[in-house]
Formats: sequence, structure tokens, C-alpha cells
Amino acid sequence: MKFKEYALKNDIKRALSELGFKEPLEVQKIVLPLILDGKDVVVKSQTGSGKTAAFAIPICESIEVEEKYPQAIVIAPTRELALQIAEDINNIGRYRGIKTLVAFGKTLIKDHRDALKRYPHIVVATPGRLKDLVERKFLRVDDLKYLVLDEADELLNLGFEEQLHDILAVLPKKRNTLLFSATMQARIEHIIMDDMNDPVKVDIESEVDIHKKIDQIYYEIEEHKKLDFLKRMLDYEKPTRAIIFANTQNKVQSIYSVMCKWNDETGMLHGGMEQEQRMKMISRFKRGELKYLIATDLASRGLHVRNLSHVINFNLPFEFESYVHRIGRTGRVNETGIAINLCSYKESEKMDELHDFLGYTIERKGPKKRLKPAGVENTKKTRFKADKTMKYEQIKIYAGRQSHLKAGDFMHTITRIPGVTNADLGKIVMHHDYTTVEINRNLADQVMTSLRRLKLKGKSYRIQKITPKWKR
Ligand code: AMP
Repeated sequence: MKFKEYALKNDIKRALSELGFKEPLEVQKIVLPLILDGKDVVVKSQTGSGKTAAFAIPICESIEVEEKYPQAIVIAPTRELALQIAEDINNIGRYRGIKTLVAFGKTLIKDHRDALKRYPHIVVATPGRLKDLVERKFLRVDDLKYLVLDEADELLNLGFEEQLHDILAVLPKKRNTLLFSATMQARIEHIIMDDMNDPVKVDIESEVDIHKKIDQIYYEIEEHKKLDFLKRMLDYEKPTRAIIFANTQNKVQSIYSVMCKWNDETGMLHGGMEQEQRMKMISRFKRGELKYLIATDLASRGLHVRNLSHVINFNLPFEFESYVHRIGRTGRVNETGIAINLCSYKESEKMDELHDFLGYTIERKGPKKRLKPAGVENTKKTRFKADKTMKYEQIKIYAGRQSHLKAGDFMHTITRIPGVTNADLGKIVMHHDYTTVEINRNLADQVMTSLRRLKLKGKSYRIQKITPKWKR
């Protein structure tokens, strides 16, 4: 059935037609009537499936334009996603005169307070700022009809559980709650289920088969040769537009500074940049003024760019789920795409794990011979041996063999911390219920702080520094 045959207001149909949305995508076919029917929903769907419109269309349809206070709140994990959602809602609600406020941190709260006085119908916000606005009573929630939690799994991964709890506690209970998530873990259901009214669960994962839409390949390249290779590859591939993902702000910056010299249509995006600069980069990229965007995972979710032919992973992401999100930037609806991974020797083990995670194998291109390590000192045997000249501090992590972890899991997690390499690790000794790790003494504090945020195979563990003898 086409959108024009739906019982939607003409203003909505007109906007959809101008956006080029002729018929609903699978998630919309299922979810749109449920929401219009006043049901709560829990939807497992990948980014790129059309889930934003799946909730934006029925919400824009049901908004009472003359009402003053916000009727819908959408909670998103990142500013970029919040901006993207607001843009999608504005596009769909344009002819109904629907006003949207986007609210996130690092912007003066006073600006949001003032914007709320202009009576937006929908507020799209990140959890921290939303909590602030509600608790200070700048945001009146009395007329709330819809609460949407978008990318709920990411909201939890980023540690927003407590804030969500606080927000849910003050919102009116008589409302519809719509939850969208790429994965459906028990803990997501745990935080929200009590607040939902007999939700309908929808799983449309199988509909988005990125495996078929996106050509994925990888090359084995030594880390120090990647930049040269990238240049040759871009010359050969001639992308219409590409995002090049790296794992840290420093790496993005260093690739950017080299690539700028080859191509002046190059931009970058990472969390260390001012919000204004970030927004400018995104809109220049979307408008087609930039051909290449070098980015951290900040760009891996929610960024919709038409005609993005290539996604290039300069490094494999820390989390495998990010891989799916990253490559999902290309191969959008009715498009196909190419994802190219540059995989160093150090990363090739991770590539094998990625294959297990994906359930299929990414084709390896280039020389048949597997890459050998540049310095053989990085092999498994010596990896954890203490360097006699280095001073270490010992960290105790309350996770051991009983948690089904291996020494390699500790090493992978710790070397994901920017600035920490294998060489900074000494002995890793695993016990039944804890593990001790020797860390370069100069980095121990930084590692402690970062480890409190990082997870080992998806779980957080208590950590403690063991005071070395020379400090006692
Ligand atoms: P997301 O909301 O992240 O899942 O992304 C959906 C992408 O598909 C966006 O680029 C939308 O503009 C596009 N889209 C959503 N609904 C439709 C539709 N019915 N027909 C064509 N494209 C759509």
C-alpha cells in the first residue's frame, strides 16, 4: 500500500511525497498503524531501516498544533542523532507547522528555556539536558502524549541508565512509550517495561540485510602504510562520497591533516570539536561540499547522507556493533554501497572475531600472503612479558577465569585506551575471580580512569590500584 492510500492528513502526505517516500518501509508498515492505534511498542530494528519515520509520521499526524506544551519527547544518545531526528521530524511535520526543539548539553540552558517559551510541539534531547530541563521545570510535561527512546541500547551503553530512571519517574504515566533499539538486551526491557502498557514487540532485523546491500572487503596493511594505501585506493575507487572511520580523535586529526593536502574537499568530525564546528562539518558533508569525512564513531549512528558510496574503516572499531553501524552509513534505502576495511597485523585477530560476530566472512583482497608483523616482538608469546626497564603499577580487576575472560581480553580492552599500546603492558596474571595487570607507571592513572568507563566483553568490573612497594 502506498502512503497516499493511508489515512494520514494531506499535509503529512505532501511532505512524504516531497521527501520521495512513496511507500512505507517494512518497519513503518508494521509500527505506524500500531502507534496510530495508541499502542506502546518495543521495536528491534537496525539503523537505516526507516525507524525514525516509523515514529515521526504517526507523532506528526497526532500532534495537536494549537496546544502549547510539548506533546512528544524523543530521547537520543548523542547530539548528532538528536539533530538528525529533529531534521527528519521537521521534514515530515513541515506542512502541519510542527515545531521541534533540539536540546543537548554544552549549550546554555537559558537558550533552551527561552526556546521552550516558543512552545515547541516536540522536544528531541539527550538524557542529561532533558533531565535538567524537566527538573528545573523549564519543560512542562503535563501534555505529554509520546515518549520515544531511540537507540535505547546505545543510551545504556553510554551509561545513561540512571538519568533515564530519573526522567521516567517525573513524566506523566498516561502516555505512549515507543522504544527503538538495534539490539534488545534484557536490561533495556528492565528499565522501561514497568513504564509501558502491554507493549507490542516488533523484530524486523531480518529485513535489513546489509550483508547483501553492501560489498564488504578488507585489505591487510601494516599500520604505517595505511595512509599511502588509502590515497591509492581512493584514486582507484573514486568514491562519490566517503566516510573514513578511525577510532580516536588523535587518529582522525592525523589522517585529516594528511588528507587535506591531497583533497581540499575533506572534513573531519570528532567529539573534541566545538559543537558549532561539528554541525558545520555535517551540513557541509550532507550538502555535498565535502567529499570525504574523516570521523570517529560519532558519525557511525544516525547520520543520513545520500549517495555515500563508500565507508572506509581505517581501523576496525573497538566494538563490533559499531562495525554494523559504520557500514550502514552507506547502502541506504534503495542504494548499494562499498565498505573497505584496512586491517593491520595487530587487527587481523580482531577480524576473525568480527567474522564470528557477523556470522559471515568479509572477503580479503590484495596479496594472497597473510601479512607478517613488522616487528616480531608483538607476537603472542612475548606480548605480556614485562619490560625490565619499565616501571609498572599493578591494577587489580575483579574479573577472572570464572568470568570466562582470557588474558587477551584484558589486553584488547586496555590497548583501546588512546595512547596505550601493548608495550605499556607488563604481566597479566589471571586468577579465579580477579586478574592483575601491570601498566606503565606513567599511564596507570589514565588507564584507571578509562577502565572505569570501558567494559570487558560487555560487562563492567570493579577495579583497584595495588600500591607498589616503592610507594608504600
Ligand atoms: P533511519 O531512520 O536511520 O532508519 O534511516 C532511514 C533512511 O531511510 C533515511 O535516510 C530516510 O530518509 C529514508 N527513508 C525513511 N523512510 C523511507 C521511505 N518510506 N521511503 C524511502 N526512504 C525512506
